[in-house]
Amino acid sequence: MKYLNPERRRVRKSLILIVSCGHCKSNLVRYQKVGRGNLLRMYIDRIIESEMPIHSKTQDLVCPNCHQEIANRIHVRQRGVDAFRMHRATYNIRQELTNNLKYHKHKSPS
Ligand SMILES: [Zn+2]
Repeated sequence: MKYLNPERRRVRKSLILIVSCGHCKSNLVRYQKVGRGNLLRMYIDRIIESEMPIHSKTQDLVCPNCHQEIANRIHVRQRGVDAFRMHRATYNIRQELTNNLKYHKHKSPS
């Protein structure tokens, strides 16, 4: 994960999920998920870090390795925030096994 999300907020009692590309299996995003159920959208302030830069103008999440689009930005009116709506069958998720909620230090791309 190369890019720490500047808009991230720590979410208590969340699970850390690793979202990976369903096509080429590259890891794409570390995400703080609240509650059980499918990952239909990723709220931008719950994204910890990612393989691609995410900023206020990012409209689509695209795998930097194989260029498959996995999500596009929507505005969630009920919460007044933006999120990425996941495209079906384009990604895999797994739970990060460590229970350590500390953020990893930003590593610059090598
Ligand atoms: Zn990919």
